[in-house]
Amino acid sequence: MARQTRQRQAIRRVFEDAQRPLGASEVLEAAGSQTPGLGMATVYRALKGLVGEGWLTPVELPGEAPRYEPAGKKHHDHFRCRRCDRVFEVECTVRLPKLRGFLVEDHEVVLSGLCPQCATGRRR
Ligand SMILES: [Zn+2]
Ligand SMILES: [Zn+2]
Repeated sequence: MARQTRQRQAIRRVFEDAQRPLGASEVLEAAGSQTPGLGMATVYRALKGLVGEGWLTPVELPGEAPRYEPAGKKHHDHFRCRRCDRVFEVECTVRLPKLRGFLVEDHEVVLSGLCPQCATGRRR
């Protein structure tokens, strides 16, 4: 199998296991050890390629480097832990207001605070 294919497969597996949006450095950390030749440049290239194929979609949080998650998930919101900087998927709890004359198609909510591990001081 071509090296590029193997690298992308490893990266896809990292996302499937994580079940939360990941940044490039998190992908490298998770996939790097079992994937020979994987470095930051190859991770960036693979992420770009997977976005181009429509397998990944960027998750842009204000003031943050982009993270990515598998495309086509049903609507959910995100939670960012201010201590460990990880981002999690959370269920949407938003009830959209009725805005006369507007056709509301989407919204984005980013909750922040401490994840369960950080809140209890059990992070690693
Ligand atoms: Zn945390
Ligand atoms: Zn929502």
